[in-house]
Amino acid sequence: MKHYTVNEIFWSPQGEGMRAGQMSVFIRFTGCNLRCRMEEAEDSPGGFDCDTEFASGRKLCAAEIVGEARALVGKPQAWYDGGHKAWVVFSGGEPALQVDRELVDALHAAGFLCAIETNGSKDVSGLGLDWITVSPKVAEHAVRQLTADEVKYVRGYGQVVPKPVCKAMHQLVSPAFDGWTLDKRAVEWCLQLIKENPEWRLSMQQHKAWQVR
Ligand code: SF4
Repeated sequence: MKHYTVNEIFWSPQGEGMRAGQMSVFIRFTGCNLRCRMEEAEDSPGGFDCDTEFASGRKLCAAEIVGEARALVGKPQAWYDGGHKAWVVFSGGEPALQVDRELVDALHAAGFLCAIETNGSKDVSGLGLDWITVSPKVAEHAVRQLTADEVKYVRGYGQVVPKPVCKAMHQLVSPAFDGWTLDKRAVEWCLQLIKENPEWRLSMQQHKAWQVR
């Protein structure tokens, strides 16, 4: 039986992007193929330090993940049978290293909609996902997921937004945080970016202001 390595599973409002405010079960997968930090490098876009712990994890099969997600939402079977849906968000680390069709199908069968937050370095278009957020952390020529519902760039002070190779309905720019502290210079910089590029929209890591995960 296939097992996934999962860092944590928790129930919280989505803090960023066009789905901000929607309650979601976050499934954070262990491991990432990048090491984002202030310095620019092949495995780092530069401008911010990754503040995510993605080294630890436990092995879970698809049925165990579904069981934990259902328990967190806490709704009876009749709620799902009545056509209601709850969101699951795959994040990490880099979830595209592990999420597969088997897991998405199992969550769909249990009454969930599936979203992913990926750095775009893997093609996830064949997984049957309901919402794709690409937040590129690699050079544009290395982005492999070429369509998305939203594309989001985390920008520190002085960093420009590229012309995205990933085509998305919504284009978002998100000011870098210093840990849980809002970097005011990054906010002012991002406001200037959206003034100059009105097709972009400001996104904030609102869960940090709400002080929830
Ligand atoms: S891609 Fe995301 S999880 Fe991976 S190192 Fe960069 S910020 Fe951290």
